[in-house]
Amino acid sequence: MLELDFHPAGRHFLQIPGPSPVPDRILRAMSYPTIDHRGPEFGALGLRVLSGIKKVFQTTQPVVIYPASGTGAWEAALCNTLSPGDTVLMYETGHFATLWKKMAESLGLKPEFLGLPGVEGWRRGVQAPMIEARLREDTQHAIKAVCVVHNETSTGVTSDIAAVRRAIDAAAHPALLMVDTISGLASADYRHDEWGVDVTVSGSQKGLMLPPGISFNAVSQKALEASRHAKLPRAFWGWAEIIEMNRTGYWPYTPNTNLLYGLAEALDMIFNEGLDNVFARHQRLAEACRQAVRAWGLEIQCADPAVYSPVLTGVVMPEGVDADAVRKLIYERFDMSLGTGLGKVKGRMFRIGHLGDCNDLTLMATLAGCEMGLKLAGVKLAGSGVQAAMEYLGTHAPARPLRVAA
Ligand SMILES: *Cc1c(COP(=O)(O)O)cnc(C)c1O
Repeated sequence: MLELDFHPAGRHFLQIPGPSPVPDRILRAMSYPTIDHRGPEFGALGLRVLSGIKKVFQTTQPVVIYPASGTGAWEAALCNTLSPGDTVLMYETGHFATLWKKMAESLGLKPEFLGLPGVEGWRRGVQAPMIEARLREDTQHAIKAVCVVHNETSTGVTSDIAAVRRAIDAAAHPALLMVDTISGLASADYRHDEWGVDVTVSGSQKGLMLPPGISFNAVSQKALEASRHAKLPRAFWGWAEIIEMNRTGYWPYTPNTNLLYGLAEALDMIFNEGLDNVFARHQRLAEACRQAVRAWGLEIQCADPAVYSPVLTGVVMPEGVDADAVRKLIYERFDMSLGTGLGKVKGRMFRIGHLGDCNDLTLMATLAGCEMGLKLAGVKLAGSGVQAAMEYLGTHAPARPLRVAA
């Protein structure tokens, strides 16, 4: 049997759309000794991360931080605001939307699943007019919440959340708006307040460049009000007690201390670069990646250019090519992990992550690994994606230099 070597020479290229590579700076920040979570330094740390993370959600309202993966924060959003048997309108953008809907069923809610049929539905963002039409029919206001995924990580398609808000308002419907931006936060522009979102769900291991293990609920006043009457059972996930203790920077239970050191460091990095610069960097790298896919003559999973994800790109294989066989070859030969196709698109496509701690050369090496792997796998390419991406990055300088030489 092959001995597993966990640390081959050079860097592993973790180019899946989360977990994303954790910068050394963050790893080092997390290696400080764990402190007393009731002591004075902890309160200062708690206040610092709680206020910093609000800026990333672009909100002034409370953000709850859980020691849990994103899935936990999904559950928190639902169980804090809804009651058994409540109807929720969910939209099928892809695999993650489907999983959230399954969770709603498990919790005893009644999800209605809107969407365009088949794989085509997994190539476009949320169709806000469909939501508006359904809400207009619901004159009795049986629907208590509208749930959508902002950055569908299984496909590389984003959705226009402001349009969903307008759809709800146009129907004059009181449903809460809940949004999953687990993979979008701190990579794609996201505006919890401006877009009128009631609960935003996110996680640590994608755009925030942290390891898996913390997740978030940003919560509007309307959602807080709903939580006072909601009847789904909740204990660990309950917002009220956490928000109360967070006032002084503490939690009702033992929080994830070392991950919070990491979060403080990640926030410093993001604010030093500037949130808008972070978003622009992701847009530029994503465009370079798409230029490569087009030059290869391959299709991009997202069929609507208006909603291309800045976080990842889904690359569709030609008929007869198993995307997972290509991924396996690239993994074994070049020590690079790419995202597998999930659910309906398994084997049809792989995903290139270009989020978080990613720059021009990270992307170029990633694309070189893909191009070599595709060729070795016998995929007929129309041209060099590496060449196309180099051309694009060379002719589209970032807004400011990365460093200033002496
Ligand atoms: C990663 C992800 C999840 C699940 O988060 P976990 O941390 O794996 O529990 C849910 N939704 C989206 C859009 C994701 O990208």
